[in-house]
Amino acid sequence: MITIQGKGVSTGVAVGPLYFYHRAKSTVSRYEVTDTDAEWARFKTAQERAVKELGDLAEKARKEAGEEAALLFETHAMMAEDLEFEENIQSLIHDKKLNAEAAVSDTAAQFAEMFAMMDDAYFQARAADVKDVAERILGILTGAVQGGVDSPVPVILAADDLAPSETVQLDKSKILGFITEGGSGSSHTAILARTMGIPAIIGVGDAMKPEYAGHEVIIDGSNGSILVDADEAARAKMLKKMEEQKKTQALLDEFKGKPNVTKDGQSIRIYCNIGSPDDVTAVLKNDAGGVGLFRSEFLYLNCDDYPDEDYQFEAYKLALSNMEGREVIIRTLDIGADKQIAYFNMPKEENPALGNRALRICLNRPEIFHTQLRALYRASAFGKLGIMFPMVTSVWEVREAKKMCELVKKELTNEGIPFDEDVEVGIMIETPAAAIISDRLAKEVDFFSCGTNDLTQYTLACDRQNNDLGRFFNPHHTAVLRLLKMVCDNAHKNGIWVGICGELGADLSLTETFLSIGIDELSVSPRSVLPLRQKVRDIDVRVVREKILTDLMGDTIGEI
Ligand code: PEP
Ligand code: MG
Repeated sequence: MITIQGKGVSTGVAVGPLYFYHRAKSTVSRYEVTDTDAEWARFKTAQERAVKELGDLAEKARKEAGEEAALLFETHAMMAEDLEFEENIQSLIHDKKLNAEAAVSDTAAQFAEMFAMMDDAYFQARAADVKDVAERILGILTGAVQGGVDSPVPVILAADDLAPSETVQLDKSKILGFITEGGSGSSHTAILARTMGIPAIIGVGDAMKPEYAGHEVIIDGSNGSILVDADEAARAKMLKKMEEQKKTQALLDEFKGKPNVTKDGQSIRIYCNIGSPDDVTAVLKNDAGGVGLFRSEFLYLNCDDYPDEDYQFEAYKLALSNMEGREVIIRTLDIGADKQIAYFNMPKEENPALGNRALRICLNRPEIFHTQLRALYRASAFGKLGIMFPMVTSVWEVREAKKMCELVKKELTNEGIPFDEDVEVGIMIETPAAAIISDRLAKEVDFFSCGTNDLTQYTLACDRQNNDLGRFFNPHHTAVLRLLKMVCDNAHKNGIWVGICGELGADLSLTETFLSIGIDELSVSPRSVLPLRQKVRDIDVRVVREKILTDLMGDTIGEI
């Protein structure tokens, strides 16, 4: 039995075979073949499968993203079958006795170079397409799989790290748990794991050896422990823990249908964070009052090209109608920083977390913002929608964003398309600037939702992606909590409500603090709803409030 220790970032015990995530990028081996006919047949089979995959992708793109996106895949399919491309590969296999991978790779490099040297910008751009097509064929030849997991049974997935775009594209029914070499607890991959309710452990370094692939592993996301080939006693202990968790869940079920009210009668709304309309099932199952944060960028991360208005409309409408009248707050596009999307063609930035991200992109590229807002307002006719903007720092940004909302509403009215006139428009408070001017911002919007992941990052000048910052990244820091109190006070003075949708909202050691400063809503992962309800119902705010506020605002509290 091998024991490995990492950092648990999403609770739960999972057991299953270990599987290493395969990036589409394949390493190409090079060797001489004797049976050139068999090697040629191997290439032909891979080529055929690539053409089929590209055809399927073209169909999917046509439905979801329009004709232009479909054309890209159709062009790729044609390239995969291009006669000159194929003849070059054939001659390398038959005449030079090269293996298929090396023949494809050399041919692609040669063709890409030829395109790159052309004068015409259109043909220069085809160099990337050739590489892309070759990468797909190589992926099939080497067994590397687009999208990561090619296993008939669900697995514990190990990877060096997973980008949010890679995580969203995984087939969730195949994943029992995650283990990553690097990563951080506030990264979007960890957040996604919690949203999906999948146990996850990060920061194991190089401890997961390739030879463990296929071996049974047991992971415990609450304490970060990993057992490879557990002995009988350890296995039984972990399985017992798994059973206990199921029982605890069953006990929590008794809180379904009960109000989130403290012993002294203070109520708070408990909502959920989701990344796709599919997550609504878990929201309803855990009896949340609504969705406090729908990270709409995950729709974009799941597409190969800009999702068009109809595609987005269908997704938002699905979430709203499935929520059966409960509120759904959809955050407008928040990409940039760790959430990079190739088709946005954003210039590389030295400090992307401080760069062109979220609302900044939407204001700089109004056509993207306009499409999303049209889809959102159209969907508002199918449920109770709220819209919020991320990464606000100034009043003018909010005014400009609201102007775009007004324009969209006017357009829909002129086109006779129904929408809800009373959609609440709010902003996220996730920069110190927004918190400090929250008195002014409160006059512009219907609500605030505090993004404590970014608020902590920006207040403490600590990169949320960097797991090595350890104790320096402290969301409990008095500076963060005082900002939250300031935001609450300013919101309430101006008659608007305030919530928390960052990960801190689910931190049960702070629930008393949040109730004491007057937070109106906590939006958490679906699995956190019932434990939070249980906690709220156990608190008497009258008993704790004074001490909490004195500790928070006084000058005597110990270490900060
Ligand atoms: C936050 O910053 O707290 C937040 C909720 O947004 P995200 O984690 O998606 O950046
Ligand atoms: Mg944020």
